Amino acid sequence: HAKNAGRNTYSFFEASMHANVQQQLSLLQDFRKALENNELSLAYQPKLHVASGKISGAEALLRWWHDEHGQVAPDRFIPLAERTGLIVPIGEWVLDRACRQVREWQDDGWVEASVAVNLSPMQFRHSGLVATVRTLLNRYGLKPQSLTLEITESTAMHDTESSIVILQRLCDLGVRIAIDDFGTGYSSLLYLKRLPVDELKIDRGFVRDLAPETEDRAIVGAVAALAQTLGLEVVAEGVETQTQFEVLSQLGCDYLQGYLLGRPMAPDALLDRVMKPSDFPDTYP
Ligand code: C2E
Ligand code: MG
Ligand code: MG
Ligand code: MG
Repeated sequence: HAKNAGRNTYSFFEASMHANVQQQLSLLQDFRKALENNELSLAYQPKLHVASGKISGAEALLRWWHDEHGQVAPDRFIPLAERTGLIVPIGEWVLDRACRQVREWQDDGWVEASVAVNLSPMQFRHSGLVATVRTLLNRYGLKPQSLTLEITESTAMHDTESSIVILQRLCDLGVRIAIDDFGTGYSSLLYLKRLPVDELKIDRGFVRDLAPETEDRAIVGAVAALAQTLGLEVVAEGVETQTQFEVLSQLGCDYLQGYLLGRPMAPDALLDRVMKPSDFPDTYP
């Protein structure tokens, strides 16, 4: 019996693993067609500049509406697209859309609008990146500071010497660079000092519990102090509560992002909010 049970368990495991692989393959096949089927879009999450109390820009976040599964989370399809290289053309599409959008916002009267775009590890290392960014800035007549490129801490810290070279080229174009999910990788402070970056985005894992005397509060305070020393700006992500808002502002974060300030939304909805801020019943100060 034991033998049978073992065998059954094994074949069940095998079957479910097989199903999982099948699922991923079929998701990948669908994702290949998502672009031409018009199933991709960008949602924009506002970023609040603490000192001015104004929304300074937004982070562009990729959305996939699958006609069978509905909304599919980026955490499910981006790793797939990364493994197959599909992320490169998709990422270029994201960059183009985001740049076109910020042009449109500026033309519509939100003159200071800026946008942040996430770069996947493969996209960051792809040889065409710098030329693509340069072309897009020209195509849409954007000031380079209107565009921030976000790479994760682990992307930046993987092969640091080549990261420095790529970041320097991007920096020479004048675009802003942010280190995303900061605190989740293993940054060497020595390298951090050498990286031409403009902002650190503190991962939302550190923002959850900011009660006095907590480790996370000390970490956020230390990152903010470090950033100040290095001349970098600090963004906190995942701000959901009024208390988090107050503590993070007090600890010296320059920008705040999270559901409290706004969920990722359609570009027109964000423009409405920026242009008619009084219509929005804000809870934050
Ligand atoms: P990320 O760049 O760190 O983006 C922040 C994620 O946190 C977004 O999830 C956002 O919706 C979510 N978020 C924002 N505020 C809050 C909050 O207050 N509470 C909570 N619980 N979550 C919040 P999303 O849109 O699901 O994206 C997940 C990740 O997928 C992103 O993390 C980014 O790494 C990746 N991603 C999204 N769009 C793109 C893209 O166009 N290209 C690439 N390469 N990666 C992307
Ligand atoms: Mg990001
Ligand atoms: Mg992040
Ligand atoms: Mg994150």
